[in-house]
Amino acid sequence: MSSGLKDISNYDHEKYMQVAIEEAKIAGGRGDKPIAAVLVHNHKIIGKMSNTWNTRNSKVHHAENYLILENAQYLRKHGKECIIYTTLEPCLMCIGTIVMADIRNVVVGLEDKYMQTKKFIDSHNWLKDRIFNFLVGIKENECKELINRYGSERDKSILL
Ligand SMILES: [Zn+2]
Repeated sequence: MSSGLKDISNYDHEKYMQVAIEEAKIAGGRGDKPIAAVLVHNHKIIGKMSNTWNTRNSKVHHAENYLILENAQYLRKHGKECIIYTTLEPCLMCIGTIVMADIRNVVVGLEDKYMQTKKFIDSHNWLKDRIFNFLVGIKENECKELINRYGSERDKSILL
C-alpha cells in the first residue's frame, strides 16, 4: 500500500489551476458560485467539477465535495497519489471530504481569509498528519478576478 504522493514539485500547478479557472467561469456564467476543482493523478486530469449551488439547488454541492463523490471509487484506489486543485481554499466540509477520500495534496488559487482552513489544519493533528502539501496562491489574481466578476457582494466582502 502506497504511503502517498509527497513531492508534487514536478507538477505543472498553473496548468491544472487554469483548467479549474475555466470551469469556474462556466459556473459563474450560469449563476453558480465561480469556484471549481480539478482532480489530477500521475499528471493526468481524472475529473473536474464546479460549484452547483443553483443548478442542483444544494448548498453542499461545493466543487470539491461533488468532484470527490463523483470519483469516489477511483479515489478509493488512487486517492493517496492524487492532487486536488481548487480555485478557492476548501471550506471545512470539503477539507474533511478531501482527507476522507485519502487525497493528501491540495493546491489552492485564492486563500479564504474568512474560513481560514489552513490555520485549522495546522492546529488539528488528524488533518495535519494527512495533508502532505497545501499550496496556496497559484494563479491567485485570476481566482480573485472570478469572485470579482461573478461573486455576490457578500462573496467579495469576505473573500477579497
Ligand atoms: Zn466546500
